[in-house]
Amino acid sequence: MTKEEEIPDSVGAQDFYDKYDPKEILGRGVSSVVRRCVDKHTSQDYAVKIIDITPSDKMSSEEIEEIREATVKEIDILKKVYGQDNIIQLKDCYESKAFFFLVFDLMRRGELFDYLTEKVTLSEKETRKIMRALLEVVHFLHSQNIVHRDLKPENILLDDEMNIKLTDFGFSVQIQEGEKLKEVCGTPGYLAPEIIECSMDPGHKGYDTAVDIWSSGVIMYTLLAGSPPFWHRKQMLMLRMILAGKYDFSSPEWEDRSDTVKDLISRMLVVDPQKRYTTTDVLNHPFFSQYVVNEVRQFSPYRRFKVICMTVLATMKIYCNYRRAKPVTKEVIKSDPYAVKPIRKLIDACAFKLYGHWVKKGQTQNRAALFENTPKAILLSITAEGDDPVKQIW
Ligand code: ADP
Ligand code: MG
Repeated sequence: MTKEEEIPDSVGAQDFYDKYDPKEILGRGVSSVVRRCVDKHTSQDYAVKIIDITPSDKMSSEEIEEIREATVKEIDILKKVYGQDNIIQLKDCYESKAFFFLVFDLMRRGELFDYLTEKVTLSEKETRKIMRALLEVVHFLHSQNIVHRDLKPENILLDDEMNIKLTDFGFSVQIQEGEKLKEVCGTPGYLAPEIIECSMDPGHKGYDTAVDIWSSGVIMYTLLAGSPPFWHRKQMLMLRMILAGKYDFSSPEWEDRSDTVKDLISRMLVVDPQKRYTTTDVLNHPFFSQYVVNEVRQFSPYRRFKVICMTVLATMKIYCNYRRAKPVTKEVIKSDPYAVKPIRKLIDACAFKLYGHWVKKGQTQNRAALFENTPKAILLSITAEGDDPVKQIW
């Protein structure tokens, strides 16, 4: 039994275990474990985020208190965004001295991160659908002065219909109009340059909602290229690339991408937050305009050559098949019945009716031999059942 499965002395935890049955682990964070759980009364599946706040050797009491305060903030934000499409819904919440239990709708398809790993890269069409939903959610958050601060494919879940649900509001904060933040938090590859600057310069003026646009730009780039725009084995060098806004569209994956999508990404990954697009600018960009059908697609010379070769080969194949095609006459069927596809299917069906299983090739019999040796028996057995497939063919 793991620690969070034990029933702690607190009433809050007891209430959780009275109502839900915790099951397998779905994901892990620094101080949390997410498990599937089942409502004992309705048998409905949910996901529960169990946050450990037990004093231990690994964590000081100050750290525990920080996690407790952060979780209280996370719950507060989750309640504020409750009911929004494309945001995970907090169904239930229990608190004890040792644990928090946050119950959410279960997203069976898991993280966008895993979906991308499976697909390698996404098409512009699919990227548009995901990014539009994400930017609409971010637009709503920013309209409430909420900064998410940890946008990344691991925190974007997929429901059964492949709609996104934004989750993990652990770093989210609601600011006052015009307020700036200085706290350094987030995930390295997705950090906006101004957050890194705050860590280097105590006199920095701070950052605001624009950091979420930067992270969204990183996500968008990653979905289309299959790899992130800023990456280096050495984290220090990766942070320098971010500070300089140094990325490019040089990998082969970008060859067939439209100029429209590259333009949008380059307006999101702008080092100066004042010049960076806002959610409104992003959603009004031609990439998201439903009526833009004439996207400029610049095929590379290699790709153009490949398409021409494939067209010529396909034309030749169609022509050869046409030349080879013979009319299906009674004589053809009699001399070589197995060469005609519908008859071949009929023979298979007959064999199946007779033997109750497919006759395997290479085990003294094969389907053709079966027909050659006992055609009458097969045909008679079929016609005797009132089914006259032979007539249908002739
Ligand atoms: P942390 O703050 O520890 O990163 P998250 O809320 O991001 O916690 O959850 C960690 C992981 O658990 C997610 O990345 C995801 O894989 C899984 N997870 C979280 N919530 C759900 C859910 N509602 N349905 C399915 N999986 C989930
Ligand atoms: Mg997370």
